[in-house]
Amino acid sequence: MAKNTKFIFVTGGVTSSLGKGILAASLAKLIQARGYSVTIQKLDPYLNVDPGTLNPYEHGECFVTDDGAETDLDLGHYERFLNVPTSQANNVTTGRIYQSVINKERKGDYLGKTVQIIPHITDEIKRCIMLLGKQGKYDVVVTEIGGVVGDIESLPFIEAVRQLKWELGADALCIHLTLVPYLAAAGEIKTKPTQHSVKKLLEIGVQPDILVLRTEHDLNASIRAKVALFCNVGKDAVFESPDLPSIYEVPLSFLKQGLDQVAMTKLGLPIDHEPDLAAWNDKLNRLYNLSNVVKIAVVGKYVELPDAYKSIHEALNHAGMVNNVKLDIEWVHSEKINDQNVAELLGEKKAILVAPGFGHRGIDGKIIATRFARENNIPFFGICLGMQCAVIEFARNVLGIADANSSEFEPTANPVIDIMEQQKSITNMGHTMRLGAYPCHILDKDSNAFRAYGEEMIQERHRHRYEFNNNYLADMEAKGMIAVGKNPDSDLVEIVEIKNHKWFVGVQFHPEYKSRFEKPHPLFVAFIKAAIS
Ligand code: GLN
Repeated sequence: MAKNTKFIFVTGGVTSSLGKGILAASLAKLIQARGYSVTIQKLDPYLNVDPGTLNPYEHGECFVTDDGAETDLDLGHYERFLNVPTSQANNVTTGRIYQSVINKERKGDYLGKTVQIIPHITDEIKRCIMLLGKQGKYDVVVTEIGGVVGDIESLPFIEAVRQLKWELGADALCIHLTLVPYLAAAGEIKTKPTQHSVKKLLEIGVQPDILVLRTEHDLNASIRAKVALFCNVGKDAVFESPDLPSIYEVPLSFLKQGLDQVAMTKLGLPIDHEPDLAAWNDKLNRLYNLSNVVKIAVVGKYVELPDAYKSIHEALNHAGMVNNVKLDIEWVHSEKINDQNVAELLGEKKAILVAPGFGHRGIDGKIIATRFARENNIPFFGICLGMQCAVIEFARNVLGIADANSSEFEPTANPVIDIMEQQKSITNMGHTMRLGAYPCHILDKDSNAFRAYGEEMIQERHRHRYEFNNNYLADMEAKGMIAVGKNPDSDLVEIVEIKNHKWFVGVQFHPEYKSRFEKPHPLFVAFIKAAIS
């Protein structure tokens, strides 16, 4: 345990999408592998209080934590890398900061004072950063500042970093990630954008301690020395972040360059032993030596945007790795599926996953895909809305209830999926769903779920308003769709299975949020196992 909590700030320059989240997660992983407890926090400069109300096209997947926070997808990377859960405190937006300052103002906490960005907003940002340090659980808190230096929106966050660096002295460190482009016409690597980006940081008063240069070409020592010279950092504190075949190799690339050692030395964290990355290396070896290719389909309506299903994608790849197969995942747009083309679109797939989602768009295609999987004995995994589609499909085509539907989509006399009782009076959209971890009791030991988990009581994370309508349960079970898992307190159906099928599992929760690189999720592993058996 370190004497004081150390704070590492990760800022980004030149452009977005350079991989600040992966840099933060990789460095945190290395420090964790050297025996320290580490957590990572994301500060998002947008005005939404949380990303829960954002369309996935805007910001990719919404990641949900055990304590029910709807957060940025980078928190998924943090959990997958560190194998420790995050919480609401790990994701703070401008909206949340302002909301809390304005609430305090209304309460009279600042009575008599003019409330201003500096110091009130910056104080609140600093409080949110220090909060994780104060929990006494972490030696190191890595804080990733969303956006790019120079954005109007990120200014208060960078200002808070400036103040904290001043207040914390040697216990704080700033790592700036920038882009070093290669100009093919000139045949040259260009450092000027990085120099400008560091100048932008300096304008606000933040001198980065370490620079990480994102590059598509190898950087030689003289380029790094040039950047060091122009940006007032030591030559040994300039690192490169090249393109790699897997994000899970990024920590190893930084380890080889000594990024963790330089950061830890600057923070005064003793380096007592080599990092323990045995499990990590083992997984990476497997990942790079997969034998057969297996074709599977994911049916969803946001398939144009890979980030919309980030955690599902990662969880599937983790499961492929465990089963020693490389997955060839086709992302099938649910709006394009109809009765005529379903066999052509899905016929060759060894397994079909129907993805979560909201709203009526694309539902028909999801239901057709589900029927196709059920009738053709193709392993099927329905997640949240995917499970609800399986219930609707079964009610319509096996129980013969033609108008069976979810009350989310249209009023129906047969709402086999219905709004939860507690949700009926809620009118606000933000943070009002059934969110976060709930227990689930696996009632049937002869189920795919029990065989996968190997235990009766599990905990999984939720994010939905609608649920299986228990009025239809007896009829469904009589025809073969069994509720094998239920919430022990509320009796809500959490897992359904069809018995005389190779592998047909629908879950009301989101198992994808809990799959980690070193600990792939058992249901995903079982799903892929069924695909190859
Ligand atoms: N729209 C459905 C509900 O709210 C499913 C949500 C989801 O798939 N996350 O219940």
